[in-house]
Amino acid sequence: MVNELLTYCPNKNDGCPYKGQRQLLITHIKEECLFTKLSCYNEECKEIIFKKDLPKHMENCKARMVKCENCEAKVQLSILEGHKSNCPVKNIECSFCHTTRIQSEHTLHLEECPEKPVTCHHAEFGCSWEGRQLDLLDHIDSCSYEPLKGFFNMYKQRNEALEQENQRLKTNIQELNSTVSLLENQVTAMSNWLSNFTDSKGILSNSEGQPSGSSAHELILSDDDHMKNEIENLSFNLMDLDAIMTENMRMQEEIQSVKNICYGLRMQMHYLLMERRGGEPSVGTAGPTNSVVRTGLNGHIGIGRTVPPNNSKSSPDSSSELNTRPLRPLGPESPRQEKL
Ligand SMILES: [Zn+2]
Ligand SMILES: [Zn+2]
Ligand SMILES: [Zn+2]
Ligand SMILES: [Zn+2]
Ligand SMILES: [Zn+2]
Repeated sequence: MVNELLTYCPNKNDGCPYKGQRQLLITHIKEECLFTKLSCYNEECKEIIFKKDLPKHMENCKARMVKCENCEAKVQLSILEGHKSNCPVKNIECSFCHTTRIQSEHTLHLEECPEKPVTCHHAEFGCSWEGRQLDLLDHIDSCSYEPLKGFFNMYKQRNEALEQENQRLKTNIQELNSTVSLLENQVTAMSNWLSNFTDSKGILSNSEGQPSGSSAHELILSDDDHMKNEIENLSFNLMDLDAIMTENMRMQEEIQSVKNICYGLRMQMHYLLMERRGGEPSVGTAGPTNSVVRTGLNGHIGIGRTVPPNNSKSSPDSSSELNTRPLRPLGPESPRQEKL
């Protein structure tokens, strides 16, 4: 009885006009009612749709799978654009010969594309030919650089060897420079110490301090020898470098400046030696002093014949000190003189 009552579809408010016997309602809702709400068949799509709209939605659903026209793989519509630009079989047109092929073969094609503009193999040596890859072999046959390629390659290798050599020499020079500054520091320290010594020695000799003075001299002598050895080693290194670097003017100039500094150091050493001698109690006459000193100096400039003898820059303090403290007369040949 109740089942035969006419009743409306529960989706009436959404628009279903159904009105029928209550016993048929379940079948209507399950199978016929177009206003039943369903979720989209595509899992990624979260939309809820009336049954009547579903076929239309499925055609346009953003989450539906579509076929890539190049590789025929099924991809989601939303990522199709991204896939297309990376699709392994995407067709690419060669911009030189305008033929088309899949992306994976394009790189290989570019290497041999006959229309690709290329330069001559010898362009790095000066051939200015430019043309299609197709014509390159013909050009090589007539290229005037081709017969010389053996020479050019030799020249190139030589150039590379020289660059490496250059690099090595630069490192050497840096090492030498640091040695030089080390020596400069030692000279400065020594000269400071020496000036203390000469000041106090004046007092000492007044009060009969002779023995301590001479032991201090021996100390200076051993220091001197040490420094001298170091400078001589340095100058040997420099001469070696000089022989290697005749082909490289710029490098040679740098060496020159290092030598100049060494020369300056030598001059300072000399000055220090002179001053030490000047501090000794004089036994000689005042006669030949200057000439002896000069000969000692000139005979001693063994370090570099290429060094310009006037080096005003490197020893400004020694000349000024010479002015304020004139050299004392030097005794007759001392054993020290021969070592110089
Ligand atoms: Zn209905
Ligand atoms: Zn959908
Ligand atoms: Zn594809
Ligand atoms: Zn091509
Ligand atoms: Zn050429």
